Amino acid sequence: MCGITAYCGQQEALSFLMQGLSKLEYRGYDSAGITTLENNQLLTIKCKGRLKNLEEKIKNYQVHGSIGIGHTRWATHGIPSNLNSHPHNNSHDTISLVHNGIIENYRQLKKELIENGYTFQSDTDSEVIVQLLDYYYDGELLEATQKVLKRIEGSYALCIISTLEPDKIIVAKKDSPLIIGKATNAYVVASDIPALLEYTKDVYFLDDLEVAMIKKDHISFYNQQGKRIEKTLTTVPYDLEAAKKDGYDTFMLKEIHEQPYVINETLRGRIFNEQIILDELKDINFQQFNKVYFVACGTAYHASLCGSQVLQRVTQLPVISMVASEFRYNDPLIDQHTLAIFVSQSGETADTLAALKLAKQKQATTIAIANVLGSTISRDSDYVLYTCAGPEIAVASTKAYTTQLVLLILLAYYIAQRLNKEVDFQLIHQLNSIPQYVEKILKDEKIFEKYAYMLKDLHDAYFIGRNLDYASVLEGALKLKEVSYVHADAYVAGELKHGPIALIEEGSVVIAVATQPHIAAKTISNIQETIARGAHVILFTTHNENIKHVENIYYLPQIAPTLQAILVAIPLQLIAYYTACIKGCDVDKPRNLAKSVTVE
Ligand code: GLU
Repeated sequence: MCGITAYCGQQEALSFLMQGLSKLEYRGYDSAGITTLENNQLLTIKCKGRLKNLEEKIKNYQVHGSIGIGHTRWATHGIPSNLNSHPHNNSHDTISLVHNGIIENYRQLKKELIENGYTFQSDTDSEVIVQLLDYYYDGELLEATQKVLKRIEGSYALCIISTLEPDKIIVAKKDSPLIIGKATNAYVVASDIPALLEYTKDVYFLDDLEVAMIKKDHISFYNQQGKRIEKTLTTVPYDLEAAKKDGYDTFMLKEIHEQPYVINETLRGRIFNEQIILDELKDINFQQFNKVYFVACGTAYHASLCGSQVLQRVTQLPVISMVASEFRYNDPLIDQHTLAIFVSQSGETADTLAALKLAKQKQATTIAIANVLGSTISRDSDYVLYTCAGPEIAVASTKAYTTQLVLLILLAYYIAQRLNKEVDFQLIHQLNSIPQYVEKILKDEKIFEKYAYMLKDLHDAYFIGRNLDYASVLEGALKLKEVSYVHADAYVAGELKHGPIALIEEGSVVIAVATQPHIAAKTISNIQETIARGAHVILFTTHNENIKHVENIYYLPQIAPTLQAILVAIPLQLIAYYTACIKGCDVDKPRNLAKSVTVE
């Protein structure tokens, strides 16, 4: 999830590259870099941090090449640093490339290249591509690229330039976006339309596994088999702001719709031959633990609640889930036999960081689950696993939450595997299919928008669920509060009659989640109790027996109960989103909230 730009034309490349990167900085801001080609030499300038650092650095150089590539990084492999910044060059400085995506088999390829005498400058997965290009280059950059594409597994958008063929850029893509624009006297390339709009609205959309060879005044396209193909030029109607949001009205809606893609990225390379592979944790001896803590705040805490229940179910280890601000002042029972897992999107959440320090002092083994590579929590913990959600711009978390769920469920089953517990193979297949299920649920968006009309005029809404569904309703209620300012409370369904049912009256709305087969019927009975007192109910379930008088039922796909939290998150996010929109709220920037909470 990063920004790529490239220019091949009559003018100097620099101004296109930099304006494009500034429009794409929302896609990644760990580092930025460019390579231009001039007088048969590559000039690569790159540095850690935001684009403005690169702009400063460039002032010390003369950059005049009329072919160039640029990158703004959202790190997935290797911390944000100067060396890990893109572009990456081969050791002879004859080939340079930028890459967006994840190369799943980079470890094997790197090993193979090292055995062939290659040395590596960076910790990135991307560098193997440029070294492989060097390895396969035999007088034709296009051919070398086609050979490399046959070797790499994973997702990529690539732009490649070389002093050996200084008149061209080779671009290719699979599962990562890449668009080519036809401007006056130039071809321009970017990973997203905003970067192109100042120069052109006429674009070619490259499809997966296709390659393009771009020269100043000519472009040719090739399919996976290397055969020439024709592509048609499309004129895009976007204005700049709309384009940054990919045509969606808000970042929140865009991020909700990105979930199939980012969930896929988070799963990428982590399931192989019906086994879960989390190499980052291979040195941990899981037999040594007699309990596990999950610690987080806000949405990440809800993901933890779900992850902790799944872990307990599949390993039978005692698991405790705590809000970080409580954990740090609650003298938790921790020693060297404790595994402590810390979850934070930004990896900078102050309370979670303080809790991590405490757990380390007490000699627990610590694992961080973070979305931002190299963030403080990921550096300070003993082990780290990254979600691959890319930058989340809307304050209310959506895609970071579902990718946390995916990773925590993977982690639970991975620990079970390591403890020699039986793991259901069918479940692992279903995990791989989650992006398709999410895609399918997103198609029902109109239904969830209709539900939002039931909530728009209310002061309060009630969410109920049991077991894993309780974590889901906590998150559903939080989302609704955050963006629409409708007060919402989530209850364990069995607790209704111990107090909250006093609030239910004619016209109340109850949102119920009942996806856990052993307990769904109980939640459905609780629903009846609210209907009898005048409530309107929206029910999300997989259960279809004996449901009476419920006005609105949405049936979720019949997959393993431990995976349902990922699916039901989608309608709950959309209900919150549409309620906020109908009420005219500023969805991306709800009042009083900040994206990353770095104060206590
Ligand atoms: N996987 C590559 C890296 O970590 C590319 C990341 C990106 O798409 O920004 O450098």
